[in-house]
Parts: sequence; C-alpha cells; structure tokens
Amino acid sequence: MKLFLFSIILLPFITISIKAENKAINDSIKSTISKIENKYQIKIYYDTKLPDSIFDIKRKYSLAPDSDYVKLYDYIKLFNKEFNKYPVQFIHKVNLKYIAIVKEVTNTNGNIRTAVPDRENEVLYLQYPQINYYPDYYKHTIHHEFYHMIEEEINGSSFYKDPLWALFNDTSFHYGSGGNSMYDKKINAYEMSHPIKGFINLYSASSIEEDKAEIFAILFVDTERKKIEEFAKTDNSLEKKINYMKNFLYGISKEMQEFLFEER
Ligand SMILES: [Zn+2]
Repeated sequence: MKLFLFSIILLPFITISIKAENKAINDSIKSTISKIENKYQIKIYYDTKLPDSIFDIKRKYSLAPDSDYVKLYDYIKLFNKEFNKYPVQFIHKVNLKYIAIVKEVTNTNGNIRTAVPDRENEVLYLQYPQINYYPDYYKHTIHHEFYHMIEEEINGSSFYKDPLWALFNDTSFHYGSGGNSMYDKKINAYEMSHPIKGFINLYSASSIEEDKAEIFAILFVDTERKKIEEFAKTDNSLEKKINYMKNFLYGISKEMQEFLFEER
C-alpha cells in the first residue's frame, strides 16, 4: 500500500522530469544542428525523412526513435567537432548539400553500412553508433565516406582510377577487388598496421578509391595522422600519397592549407 501511494505521489514528478530532460536534449540537438546548417549552408536531416519532392532516394534508412536521442546527441556532438574541421569554402566547392543522421542505412546492395555517400542526391548518410567500435572509428568514417563524394565531384567518379596515385605504388603491386569485397573477410582490414609499403591498412589495398579515402580520413583524425606520419618517415610511397592528397585539397580550397598545417 505504501509503495502504491509512493508511486502515485511521485510518478507525475518522475514523468515530468524525464520529459524535461528529453526537451533539454531535443533543444541541444536542434541548436547544434542549426549552427552547422547556418555556417555551411547545408541541410541536416535527423528527425524527418528526406522529402520525396526533392530527392529520389533508392536507399533504405530509418530515423532515430525518441528513445535513442541521448545516443543521437552524443553522436551529433562528435559529428559537430569533425565537420567543423572543414573550411566553409571547401564544403561549397565540393558541393555537399545534405546530411542525414540516421539509425540505420543500407548501400545500394542492401547492406547496412556505418555511413553511405549518396552521390546522385548529394546526401551523406551517417549512422549514429549502434555498435561500440574503436573510439576513432566513427570520426574516421565520416571523413572517409565524404571523400568518395569529393572524388565524384572533382574527378568525375568515386571510382576514379587516378593514374598519378597509382605511380606511388611499387610496380609489382596490384589492388584487390574493391572495398565491398573486404567486409566478409575474417581479418581486421582497418587496423593501421602498415602491412605493405605505401599502405596504412589492408582496406587501402583493396582499391585505389579506398586507398585515397583512407589517406584523406587520417588527415582529420589526429591519433591516426600521427601514427601514419611516423610510418611515412621510412616509407616514401606513403609520404608521396599524403603530400599528393594535401595538395589536391589545397587546390580545391586554399583555406584547407591553414587547417592542414595547423597543429591540432
Ligand atoms: Zn570507402
């Protein structure tokens, strides 16, 4: 009986406090998102679907349920930090228009992926964490998948077989059969173990486009960048790839120079 009375008296307060907490999280998400949208003049979807009137979306995705908003906010804070590493001019030059932060998204083959670049619609889909990968994985993935869109925008295809980049590899080296082929292998393809001269991990060796996206991503993730710069001291192939990527980015937007030279 006592417990019953206790519940009757306290329950409304508990409900109110949960609601207040939810409202505080919602407000924080909204304000973080609108700051990014205003700064970069992009649109970020997270609580509504991408409208059919603007997009022809062929991928499957789902939005965050209310019960995931704490997780969603944690991810948005991480995303905010990572995305702000890009100069505004750079984002305009590469024509990124939309970001969708979702619970789950599939690639065109129907496989769930942590992030998916939708080049036709200029949408970068990002999944907020469902699984605990290594701490820098989600940061790295934002930059890596975004790079596939940059390549499409600047070089005409995400699968551009850059002939200059290929020259940095030993003549005996041949790439594998693409990023997708690496998912089923029972190896840690992402571990930055510098397994082959010129390559930071095995994933990079799967194709030229993944190699470039990996080098781009590490420039933005400090712990990885420091590790790779150490490898590059004794690996001139890797050193050339890093310099080529930096120069490519400066060519797109000179503001990138300031950022990439900055000690972070
Ligand atoms: Zn990739």
